Amino acid sequence: MTADLARLAAAVPANVREVCGVLTKAGFQAVTVGGAVRDALIGREPGDWDVATSATPEQVMASFRHTIPTGLQHGTVTIVTGRGIASHVEVTTFRGEGAYSDARRPDSVRFGVPLDEDLARRDLVVNAIAYDPETAELHDPFGGRVDLAAKRLRAVGNAVERFTEDGLRVMRAVRFAAQLEFELDPATEAGIAPALPSLAKVSRERVADELRKILAARQPSRALAIARRTGIVRSILPDVDAAAGEDWLPRIDRAPGEVRLAALFAPLAANDADPLHLDRDATRRVLAIGRALKLSNVECELAAQLVGALHAERAAVWAPADARRLLAALDRDKRVHAAELWQNAALAAETRRILAAGEPLAVGDLAIDGKELMAALDQAPGPAIGRILAMLLERVIEDPARNTRDQLLRDAQALELEVGH
Ligand code: ATP
Ligand code: MG
Repeated sequence: MTADLARLAAAVPANVREVCGVLTKAGFQAVTVGGAVRDALIGREPGDWDVATSATPEQVMASFRHTIPTGLQHGTVTIVTGRGIASHVEVTTFRGEGAYSDARRPDSVRFGVPLDEDLARRDLVVNAIAYDPETAELHDPFGGRVDLAAKRLRAVGNAVERFTEDGLRVMRAVRFAAQLEFELDPATEAGIAPALPSLAKVSRERVADELRKILAARQPSRALAIARRTGIVRSILPDVDAAAGEDWLPRIDRAPGEVRLAALFAPLAANDADPLHLDRDATRRVLAIGRALKLSNVECELAAQLVGALHAERAAVWAPADARRLLAALDRDKRVHAAELWQNAALAAETRRILAAGEPLAVGDLAIDGKELMAALDQAPGPAIGRILAMLLERVIEDPARNTRDQLLRDAQALELEVGH
């Protein structure tokens, strides 16, 4: 047996093997297929194992004690083989697909087709390999194993047609280029541009999921460079596409995982913004685009604030107080991430120093609180106290040495005379 087949045979989990065995003994064909077979063959950690079978969903349900009718319209039944979600095995009846008139799902699904027809509806040749753990036989009608060895991604059949049927496939193709570090076959790449009208019809949630997977790859640029030159970026992020320059992709590759979305949106930072203030327009632009893409609030907020502060990296000179003022405008949990995104090493280093030293950046960091201040000034709660605290913070950002109780009380008394009641 060759090394890749031996790896695959050893990788099939016992419960998946068991599910295939039960169906085979009942007289049906049952094979593992898709991403897990692909990954096991190349020695990558497989994700979920999917089983495909000639049995109908009813026949599958009749063959096992514990089943869940997960997606009967797609022919999918989940077999519960033990405790916990890891024991679940999804079994899907071999199916062929009719035409796709909406670029998202087929108009009709036909069950009872042979395995090769089920494989033919899959997106990429490397995803269209089936393995029978009972007979240790590979079903590889399109040459997936050769493509895996060549680290090559090809569409099954005609690329334009396959990408047009389901617009998400163009994103999957470029995603796998980054995730697997494979080359996209030129003829397959050429099929992307003509299929882009289909991508526009795909739900933004699915597009966002693919983007997240791309950004989680070691080098997202492997996907995004193709996405840019084929028009995928123009389709899903037109404003980023219009503004992106030479440094767009290198920055994304260099960025740690948490700040890669911000790096993706980095071209939305304005060139002419005041370097040491938060650029609220850029923040708003990123929020609007992130929300339209159905990113989570947490993702949107982080990316928006970091892009709002990004232009600070262009400031050639700044005083430490300027850096503190800029950091004070960011949420506490986002400040360290700003330093991860900036390509101005001195500014990033100063930021890390400020954060490590715990220099005061918010009213909550002051050495006195509102209660003490009210008592010392003999004042009732009200907006005046808030104003005085804000002014104290402003002074402390200028000079952190002022952040002592005595100094702040003296400052507050002087300010109270200035501000009045
Ligand atoms: P991963 O799970 O790592 O994202 P995968 O290839 O396993 O990758 P799944 O979404 O789990 O992707 O799908 C399992 C299989 O179903 C794929 O390997 C492929 O054969 C097929 N498939 C999934 N999505 C599509 C699609 N949009 N068009 C055609 N075939 C698809
Ligand atoms: Mg999968």
